[in-house]
Amino acid sequence: MRSYFEETDGDRRRAILDADALTVDLVSALAGDRPLTAQEKVHLDRRREDRGRRFFSDLFYSMTHQYFPPEAAENLWNEVLQHKKGLSKALARNVSTVVATLDYLSNITGDMHSPTLVCETVIEEIVGLSFRDGLTGLFNHSYFSEQMDLEVSRFIRYGIPVSLMMIDIDDFKGVNDSFGHQEGDRILNVLGTALMRAARESDTCCRYGGEEFAVILPMTDMSIASRIAARVHVAMVTETAGPRKVTVSVGVASCCELTRSYRDLVRKADAALYQAKRKGKNRVEISTVDRTVPPCAKSPYDRTNLMHSHAHNRSAYPNPPARSC
Ligand code: GH3
Ligand code: MG
Ligand code: MG
Repeated sequence: MRSYFEETDGDRRRAILDADALTVDLVSALAGDRPLTAQEKVHLDRRREDRGRRFFSDLFYSMTHQYFPPEAAENLWNEVLQHKKGLSKALARNVSTVVATLDYLSNITGDMHSPTLVCETVIEEIVGLSFRDGLTGLFNHSYFSEQMDLEVSRFIRYGIPVSLMMIDIDDFKGVNDSFGHQEGDRILNVLGTALMRAARESDTCCRYGGEEFAVILPMTDMSIASRIAARVHVAMVTETAGPRKVTVSVGVASCCELTRSYRDLVRKADAALYQAKRKGKNRVEISTVDRTVPPCAKSPYDRTNLMHSHAHNRSAYPNPPARSC
């Protein structure tokens, strides 16, 4: 398993959506294209201190969406600044940092092949969409895997609890057979929305695939997770009440001392879901391994009112307001 501190491409993509992201405008200001405000100076200094040499990788990632290792990025940054000076002198006008970077990386070092011009806001939109499932607006499977890997790595390293809910629509094939696939799609969408509303803002609601959903519950042990699962179950079943009522089965599991990777947690939640199906569907089942966890009135890890600082907040499909468990 990768270490918590190693960065993946997903981490870097998420950083673009982060409220604290290094925008191209800010990087350009740092290079002298325009004066920095006092607030921007503080922000950049803090970021530089936090990130060390990785700060230079961040600068290039924000401009090019390519990863340059920190040492190479620091050297490149100095070379680009020199190149910008040279170009500006030759053309007798200020050449922007983006143009100088583009020229340097594509025509001098050859690090960029076939670059295209895309506005920064369009990139943000595309990155945001790449995390989402088109039908339900929930996070997609690849985002789920990345986020699970991160949360379970945190558990293994620091013992910060994390729970997982797997949800499967009952007899969904029959719904499609009776009412058609379009109606099936609509129901999937309705259930996805109900799920998002019932979960907390800090939970990551995903479409796992087909008619299955998954919810990652960070900093949440079983005593809280089981209560949230019960609420989610009621909310989803109630949402479709009426002639086209569908039910869902839910399996819940938490990380424990046997957890070695996020796949172990998925396996446990899956096994609990299988139990829910076997016992007659339309119910919540807790993983047998986790059933011995004593319930506590209020988990010290319940961070109901805290939020992730990344894509959740900037999505075209915002999660509902924070709520208590
Ligand atoms: P169970 O209670 O055992 O889960 O039964 P089930 O019928 O839900 O499960 P099964 O695995 O037999 O069938 C899953 C169905 O979900 C079949 C498939 O057509 C439907 N499905 C999967 N993805 C979609 C989708 O995107 N849209 C629609 N309309 N149906 C989907
Ligand atoms: Mg299924
Ligand atoms: Mg099903």
